[in-house]
Amino acid sequence: MRPDVHQPDRWDQLEQVVKETHHFLTEYDEIVLHKELYRTLFMYHLTNLRDEVILLLKKFTTLPKDIVEEKEIECCGVTYNDKAVFKQHYEDAHNKKVLQSASLCELKMSLTKISFFERHIKDYLAGGQESSCELLLNLRRILRRLDHTLEF
Ligand SMILES: [Zn+2]
Repeated sequence: MRPDVHQPDRWDQLEQVVKETHHFLTEYDEIVLHKELYRTLFMYHLTNLRDEVILLLKKFTTLPKDIVEEKEIECCGVTYNDKAVFKQHYEDAHNKKVLQSASLCELKMSLTKISFFERHIKDYLAGGQESSCELLLNLRRILRRLDHTLEF
């Protein structure tokens, strides 16, 4: 009898989230393909995703020292230290405009993939009980790739 026989769900959940992180890494370059064209839009969504990835990492481990929790965000010539203030600026200055002009199918697909992945991270943050080396490694890789992208 396997020791985890009473709780098969938690291991299934872990396997699922590992799969999703791997999948996201595989598709990452394609997802951020239009980042130059829609800089602010990607900055907004990737910054939100970054927060969730950091929270999930912190749930299961201590954060690596070279990871900065709060990143400065530059938009419209202003540097934001406070993410809430940046989000407000984004809503006020960019959200409507971007929604009207975002006619590219690929762009919409990218944003869908980002929010889909973010949903998985949030779910695991709320209900996930197990972690593995593979999960933590994938999350750190995602974080590094996000940081690299957010420096454009
Ligand atoms: Zn702006």
